[in-house]
Amino acid sequence: RGDSRAFDREVKSVCPFCGVGCQVSLKVKDDEVAWVDGIDGPANEGRLCVKGRFGFDYIHHPHRLTKPLIRREGALKGMNVDPGNPLSHFREASWEEALDAAASGLARLRDDAGERVAGFGSAKCSNEEAYLFQKLIRQGFGHNNVDHCTRLCHASSVAALMENVGSGAVTATFNQIENADVAIVIGANPIENHPVAATYFKQFAKRGGKLIVMDPRGQSLKRHATHMLQFRPGTDVAMLNAIMHVIVTEQLYDRQYVEGFTENWDALAAHLEGFAPEEMEPLCGVPARTLREVARDFATATTGMIFWGMGVSQHIHGTDNSRCLISLALMCGHVGRPGTGLHPLRGQNNVQGASDAGLIPMFLPDYQPVTDEGVRSSFAEIWKSGDFSDQKGLTVTEILDAVHAGWVQGMYILGENPAMSDPDLDHARAALAKLDHLVVQDIFLTETAMYADVVLPAAAFYEKSGTVTNTNRQVQMGHPAVPPPGQARPDWEITQDLARRLGLDWSYCDPSEVFAEMKRGMPSLDNITWARVASEGAVTYPSQSPDDPGQPIVFGDGFPREGGRARFTPASIIAPDETPDAEFPMILTTGRQLEHWHTGAMTRRASVLDAVEPEANCSLHPRTLRRLGVVPGADIRLTTRRGSITLMARADRAVSEDMVFLPFAFVEAAANLLTNPAIDPFGMIPEFKFAAVRAEAS
Ligand code: SF4
Repeated sequence: RGDSRAFDREVKSVCPFCGVGCQVSLKVKDDEVAWVDGIDGPANEGRLCVKGRFGFDYIHHPHRLTKPLIRREGALKGMNVDPGNPLSHFREASWEEALDAAASGLARLRDDAGERVAGFGSAKCSNEEAYLFQKLIRQGFGHNNVDHCTRLCHASSVAALMENVGSGAVTATFNQIENADVAIVIGANPIENHPVAATYFKQFAKRGGKLIVMDPRGQSLKRHATHMLQFRPGTDVAMLNAIMHVIVTEQLYDRQYVEGFTENWDALAAHLEGFAPEEMEPLCGVPARTLREVARDFATATTGMIFWGMGVSQHIHGTDNSRCLISLALMCGHVGRPGTGLHPLRGQNNVQGASDAGLIPMFLPDYQPVTDEGVRSSFAEIWKSGDFSDQKGLTVTEILDAVHAGWVQGMYILGENPAMSDPDLDHARAALAKLDHLVVQDIFLTETAMYADVVLPAAAFYEKSGTVTNTNRQVQMGHPAVPPPGQARPDWEITQDLARRLGLDWSYCDPSEVFAEMKRGMPSLDNITWARVASEGAVTYPSQSPDDPGQPIVFGDGFPREGGRARFTPASIIAPDETPDAEFPMILTTGRQLEHWHTGAMTRRASVLDAVEPEANCSLHPRTLRRLGVVPGADIRLTTRRGSITLMARADRAVSEDMVFLPFAFVEAAANLLTNPAIDPFGMIPEFKFAAVRAEAS
């Protein structure tokens, strides 16, 4: 395979899975990707994990959609109508017929009653495609009912960052850990979910950096940590406030930084008086002496970083959890210098870019509020029309509630899979079934597509051009390596064809033209051009000049808030929405596994990944399994107030005795049939990380 004669061409792109954004070289033979190597991108420096290296052949899977589909007259909607032959619901159609059917159904609902249509865009698409999708909903339907999966992963982190530092993106790249003395990793399992980032974390520990891991579930990163705080699920605020209490009472905070760069310190300091470690220990389960040690280590270090994942964000108090992390970094002055920073590890390969591009119901591109008349009129000028609403739109979960209420009757869903990804799936699937008109655009007939009236076959990321923005704010470019199968087409082309049928005067010939338009309304892209990204491979935003590769660290001289100061927002303890009781005595938490990514549509069709991890599974402590009379490998039944599933049980000492860990990639035992739809009031994110559950032998 090292022999260049073994392939016909070599094409550079970006891994389509997680937010690390590893650059790849695709070796193409006979119009198929034969293998993938890592190349020297700024985030990965040649490294790849098992997904990036071996998870590529889903693009050649026989399940790929190759022709547009229209639901047969009278065919039922749903996943279980004819599970052996899901295509029997549909008939093949020409592009003309399918696009006409898709657009006319949406236009009918729009023209009948305005806000009857909503859209879910995708963080799996390029920046240009995300931008066009939100523009279509806003310009074509006149409202802001457009959202995407950020609502299910880091919406609460973004809400807290916007509130307190004035920007939703990371303040420093994860690679800055090489300059840090101490790093906290909380509510994240990077060895499984951001594996290449984890290699930098392990190197940091190897050279003597103090790595502090905080997670209710044990994880293999703890082998490299100086401290592992396995706190009780849902007690983040108690634990973090106790750590900050020590820093304040022992006068370890950076007084000069607090006075020079922050506001609301007195309120935070007064609030923290009630969180002595000895009082929080019984709540969070972490010994007071450990809380004190961690506080001293973090506060007295010259440089420190905080990384967090969805263990922090996916709670009804997710925004409060992030507020605590922001306060902790600020009080120690650990922002704005090499080796310092706040870094929510983003999940999908373009969730940062899709959010930047405006796939959010309350913000136009670059987080500019839809409620601001000046912002709206500047976009109306760029778009040469677009008298869209000044009201914030509905979020992912609100849209599905609005379907049940009969308010939303039509949806355009691009690349998202709410029939697997949303909490309380029976509720989500019933909403999809209730829609009067559903258009789904994807690369496979996903669980969501089985509810569609029209299915539009899209190109996969390795089959098209486009930019994506990773967790580090690095804008990178994918180039087409292989042609899409059959009649599948790039998403931006399909969205444009729909827009034209909805009466919009769009005439983009290439994604580069979309990028040029985005720049006009997005100051974050100043000095970044399509040509630069293509020739340089990556440009980090913000970039200060046409030859500046971009700023890996921001906010060294103030924050983009009024007055230039960051804010301390105190957080109080809020219990999870439902707590274990006699009927549901254990705690259910969900997440991802190394081999599978999100709802599994891609990785379960990747031959190597599927071979390694082929079966739905959950993890419990060996003693819990013994108590329940379940041997490892046998079936177990999990039941919550939403429903029941049966799947294989694994023994895992990393899971505490009162917990069940459940991956959400497996449709045959879909985790989200069990999860709680209660949401954080600020980030509107569901509480995927905590539900009361009963486990029993099946
Ligand atoms: Fe892809 Fe993420 Fe793995 Fe890198 S770490 S190869 S971006 S899945």
